[in-house]
Amino acid sequence: MEMNDHIALAERWSAHNYHPLPVVLSYGEGAWLTDVNGRRYLDFLAGYSALNFGHRHPALIAAAKEQLDLLTLTGRAFHNDQFGPFCQELAELTGTEMVLPANSGAEAVESAVKVARKWAYQVKGVPDGAAEIVVAGANFHGRTTTIISFSTDEAARNEFGPFTPGFKVVPYGDIDALRAAVTDNTAAVLLEPIQGEAGVIVPPKGYLTEVRQLCDDTHTLFVADEVQSGLARTGATLALDHEGVRADLYTVGKALGGGILPVSAVIGRADVLGVLKPGEHGSTFAGNPLACAVGRAVIKLLATGEFQERSRELGAYLHSRLGELEGVAEVTGRGLWASVRIAEGRPTGRPVSEALAERGVLCKEFQDTLRVAPPLVITRSEIDFGVDAIADVLGGGRHV
Ligand SMILES: *Cc1c(COP(=O)(O)O)cnc(C)c1O
Repeated sequence: MEMNDHIALAERWSAHNYHPLPVVLSYGEGAWLTDVNGRRYLDFLAGYSALNFGHRHPALIAAAKEQLDLLTLTGRAFHNDQFGPFCQELAELTGTEMVLPANSGAEAVESAVKVARKWAYQVKGVPDGAAEIVVAGANFHGRTTTIISFSTDEAARNEFGPFTPGFKVVPYGDIDALRAAVTDNTAAVLLEPIQGEAGVIVPPKGYLTEVRQLCDDTHTLFVADEVQSGLARTGATLALDHEGVRADLYTVGKALGGGILPVSAVIGRADVLGVLKPGEHGSTFAGNPLACAVGRAVIKLLATGEFQERSRELGAYLHSRLGELEGVAEVTGRGLWASVRIAEGRPTGRPVSEALAERGVLCKEFQDTLRVAPPLVITRSEIDFGVDAIADVLGGGRHV
């Protein structure tokens, strides 16, 4: 089949909830993808950070293949020999006490919301049905009905109501607004330590420390959604580590599945996750042996610290190169995670991503910003290749 036949099939037979670039990929290795015509592209998106270790990292593929020949699914009605070690190793890597496995990031966030509410009723003494969770504007926590109930993205909410009550939205990075929103009924503050959707937004210095203090002072849980910022993307195992701050619960996902299958978890304090009793929460595929085996191989890679270090060092290089480009107004983010705001008068929007694809670089634009998040296995010269393509596209005047 030709490229256009594949695109026509997707158009005809799939729901149109995405608008993919006109490339049809059939092979990946490291930081590179190949399309059905044999054309190679540098991956500057990394599956929204699910591919932190690149495509088909040999250690991850080996772990998956080994487990495929042994056992893939049991359900949590029985124990399996990958589950306990996975939970222990994930807790030890992250300095947490307990693990609640899930599949997608949204499922982990949903689970954290449920746990925080139950904790509020059982431990904080919030009257039944009155628990509130405070979140930040421009957040991204996933796509379920409850999660979009506290989204501020109109496209994510429009015509999907009625919504789940019990959420308050305050501006991100504004500690006074957060302080004013927290009450005796607040179960948790739920935040991304670095926001990933409306650009890559790093909060003001000290903000996360103040959030921690506010939560301590008011007996409120701090839930950090690290589904994208976690697992080495920003140059630390958890983005909160940069400020030396600990959350009560974290959600992790994306890279935890090694780019092979969805694996996520809520991790954190044993006395908080301990509110769940048998039968109160569950998931058919969560904690399955294949997911746990791949997750364990991911944790082993992260335990070396090599990927965190690559993200710090190469991230500094990426940020400095992007910052020097003509046509770039601002670069934000941390580690190998950058958002480039394009200067006025330069090309913006989808034509930028299309022109980059023509130059062999796959990337995702959002209005006047370009999100850059390559696999952490990328090299300096590959970063140069990608940044040179961006320079070329942005320097090309008003029309691409
Ligand atoms: C991607 C993401 C999610 C949702 O993960 P899915 O696996 O797509 O459900 C939740 N929170 C954050 C911060 C994310 O980046």
